[in-house]
Amino acid sequence: MNTERPLLVIVGSANTDLVVHTPQFPVPGETRLGSAFQLSCGGKGANQAVAAARLGARVALVGKVGRDDFGQRALANLQQEGLDTTHVYQHPEAATGVAIITVNAQGQNTIVVAPGANHELLPADLDQAVTLLEQAAYLVVQLEIPLPTVLYLVAWARRRGKRVVLNPAPALPLPDDVYHDLFLLTPNETEAEALTGVPVRDADSARAAAQVLRERGVRNVVVTLGAQGAFLHTATYTGLVPAPHVEAVDTTAAGDVFTGALAVALTQNLDWERAAHFACQAAAVAVTRLGAQVSAPYRHELLAS
Ligand code: ADP
Repeated sequence: MNTERPLLVIVGSANTDLVVHTPQFPVPGETRLGSAFQLSCGGKGANQAVAAARLGARVALVGKVGRDDFGQRALANLQQEGLDTTHVYQHPEAATGVAIITVNAQGQNTIVVAPGANHELLPADLDQAVTLLEQAAYLVVQLEIPLPTVLYLVAWARRRGKRVVLNPAPALPLPDDVYHDLFLLTPNETEAEALTGVPVRDADSARAAAQVLRERGVRNVVVTLGAQGAFLHTATYTGLVPAPHVEAVDTTAAGDVFTGALAVALTQNLDWERAAHFACQAAAVAVTRLGAQVSAPYRHELLAS
């Protein structure tokens, strides 16, 4: 029934987020009582996949979890969100990835990620998913899985003429020869600066960083700028697409919702400016809600534009 809709294949991480609220962070050696505990599904790959599915796309996730309770929970959550999880593998020994997050009274956080099974997602797993990958209109990948797996995917996509969207998060140095195989790169300010050395704070500096990335061969670059919106440096449009003014309460996963939504818009053949506008609308709703993946909006919840 859904088979006419273009398929987005997202290759990336699935984690369990363990969040504790505490009035103040403990110092080393100290124990503190926290006020609340939340357990939720996260990981950049899963977040982007869920965001895209909620916006109406047909989405498959390729990833790896453990055979533990968190892994079962992650799989059940993805299936409940309507994702194809045929290629979310379960590693026999590795634990499902977890992020241990503490949030203080000022809303600041500390995060320690134990990647676990995410770091066991190997090129051989992509070979096993090749039939699925071949059906993709776009492939979306981030950097919470091993870099050799990301590079293997990009090289495969080049040979097959598939378009790859890379959300370069968390920031890692990338080999020079990967850039010309990327259809789209979606760094935030920090990641754009880490990749180019250009400090990014506003539209002008985002333009300068994006220019460097395009000169390296990336076909299209979208730098996200938090409340300022997103700067596009693409084949057909260069300029700032502003974010809607909203009361932000939690910006966690804003970048994931943005990239997921942008990928959805691309599968629908929206032009760059309209695609970025759609992504800004979706991310703006997400920042008005607490939580990461759970804050991703459904299509009917998008702000009127
Ligand atoms: P990340 O979450 O990776 O740090 P950003 O902070 O750049 O990424 O946010 C991604 C996108 O989310 C922005 O391009 C923007 O569209 C939206 N966004 C983030 N913060 C706000 C905000 N305070 N108000 C409205 N939109 C926001």
